[in-house]
Amino acid sequence: MKQLINEMALTFKAISINESFARACIAAFCIQADPSLDEITDIKTAVSEAVTNCVVHAYPKKNGEIKILVHLYEDSVSIWISDKGIGIENIEKAREPFYTTKPDQERSGMGFTVMESFMDLMDVFKNEDKGITVKLEKKFKTKKFAVGGVNA
Ligand code: ATP
Ligand code: MG
Repeated sequence: MKQLINEMALTFKAISINESFARACIAAFCIQADPSLDEITDIKTAVSEAVTNCVVHAYPKKNGEIKILVHLYEDSVSIWISDKGIGIENIEKAREPFYTTKPDQERSGMGFTVMESFMDLMDVFKNEDKGITVKLEKKFKTKKFAVGGVNA
């Protein structure tokens, strides 16, 4: 079993100003694991894409919320990004490179592909009630917490 070192949750409005907020917030939380600059950049890029998707696609007709849950392990981080929006009918199709339902808004359909290539794992789930959850995982090359966690 992986040892959970730390965790945090965030809830904020699905508006574009919060894309940079979420990116910076998750990065700041991950710093305690002493990630490399490349690792932190990869995490920021993937979180940005997932949050932007919630802002752009999830709530076409109303205001909504985005929830992020972060679990920090001794050698990795797991991030769940959820909305309660319109959801995705065909997730497999949506994950294909260049697939977009908003070509008119200069979307290139590369968000999921970017998340997948910048992270070690990317998964997309339909929520039980509404919307989707994107799960992202990144492994860290060096183990800051190798000896017994932050309180050791
Ligand atoms: P880009 O990310 O390149 O700007 P995009 O957002 O259209 O373009 P993806 O991020 O790969 O491309 O997403 C593919 C499609 O999946 C979107 O066009 C949209 O139809 C759907 N989608 C993605 N995230 C959500 C979401 N949170 N809620 C509803 N639909 C979504
Ligand atoms: Mg996108």
